[in-house]
Amino acid sequence: MPRATAPDARRYMARQPFDYVGLALDQGQIVELVGAKNDAALIRLGYVIELESRTTTYECAECGAAFTSIEARSAHGRKRHPDRDLTPDQEDEREEREERMLEQVAPLYLDKTKAAMGAA
Ligand SMILES: [Zn+2]
Repeated sequence: MPRATAPDARRYMARQPFDYVGLALDQGQIVELVGAKNDAALIRLGYVIELESRTTTYECAECGAAFTSIEARSAHGRKRHPDRDLTPDQEDEREEREERMLEQVAPLYLDKTKAAMGAA
């Protein structure tokens, strides 16, 4: 079920799947940055983007992870809580689909790496 969230929580959405302080985040998953050393780089490079304060969220019934869209929650469910184990071929196919989708919806800001900015 969608639910409204605290208006002043500073939350971010993972634009790409990545591991954050030991947590495996999926695309579209909501995360609160905890002040880790790399937080600024995560924002600069586009791994996360700050959420508007009243973004509707959708929670995974299995693990409670929250997402910004039903699509992201469904993709998370297929990946993390499959009904049955995928064959290696099916798993490869799923990963390729995910990579193609991510390149389209959430390319990283590779022009914002320190090296790229230093060269400019
Ligand atoms: Zn889950």
